[in-house]
Amino acid sequence: MRLYPFFIPHAGCPHRCSFCQQQETSGQQEVFPPERVAAELSAMLAVGAGGQVAFYGGTFSALPGSLQEKYLEAVSPFLCSGQVSGVRISTRPDALADRQIDRLKQRGVATVEVGVQSFCDSVLENVNRGHGSAIVAPAVSRLRSAGLEVGIQLMPGLPGGSRREALASLRRALELKPDFLRIYPAVVLRGTPLVDRYRAGEYRPFSLEEAVDCCAEMSWICRQAEVPIIRLGLQATPALDADGGVLAGPYHPAFGQLVRSRIWRRALDRAATTGADVAHVHPADAADAIGHRRDNMLYLNKKHAHFELKPSPGTQRGTLVFGGTSHVALDLAAFAQESLN
Ligand code: SF4
Repeated sequence: MRLYPFFIPHAGCPHRCSFCQQQETSGQQEVFPPERVAAELSAMLAVGAGGQVAFYGGTFSALPGSLQEKYLEAVSPFLCSGQVSGVRISTRPDALADRQIDRLKQRGVATVEVGVQSFCDSVLENVNRGHGSAIVAPAVSRLRSAGLEVGIQLMPGLPGGSRREALASLRRALELKPDFLRIYPAVVLRGTPLVDRYRAGEYRPFSLEEAVDCCAEMSWICRQAEVPIIRLGLQATPALDADGGVLAGPYHPAFGQLVRSRIWRRALDRAATTGADVAHVHPADAADAIGHRRDNMLYLNKKHAHFELKPSPGTQRGTLVFGGTSHVALDLAAFAQESLN
């Protein structure tokens, strides 16, 4: 779906979570003023129509009611004319009381993205979230009862977290049957309290390798649950890409591609292990299958010297064909069943 994002860095947040620096992740220093929303949205819509207006980067439903009104009022004419189909906001589970949800619903909000990060209480305490995990399910249930679409955001690798914790949190999230997920492995961003803990040796974020492999497994689990992941890893911004923007952790501007490539690597390895010498993929999947800097092929050819990958337009996207049979790559890349339990 096309999104028209407006960033309101940290606006409405009751306090600062220790990993968060919205100015860096959104690439925007100031809160976008409601007075400029209509003009900016008109300019964005000049290149297309439909989709949702998104207010990201803060705790929208905890803003003063009058300010929420100003933002939503600015979008109202575009909703009435059908130029946009709805509004989405990001917020926290402790800012989703019935009255807050009612206001959102009455003013055209269709989708709520809930920053949960982890379902482990000690992790939430470690990062100064200011709430525990028990409030998440009731908040999601209230959103559902109001007929709103719900997304959940998770952050594997926060202080006190682990791969096991990330998978356990994912399972808890999936039990709530969200419409979609966003997964952002934790990184140490300039200007966050996490920097001091990292420098003191009290926190070690995931390596890129750990995060890619963990997110590949999370992707596989989500496929079994038929819940889409709409974003993996932070969106690149000039601030993040600048020297010192990210002090440590698994930031990569093409993180999602690395995860997709890891899934392909597992699928191709499985194909080669069955004795296949050649596998066919759709040409549009070839870059992911070959891997960043061909690292999948280097890995595979060390284990299976004569294995070949061939782009083939007749192959369906997301599948590989070997031995005369078509296989869905994500299914073939199956992780250990115990990760589901
Ligand atoms: S994670 Fe969400 S609630 Fe916490 S400081 Fe960042 S924007 Fe605010």
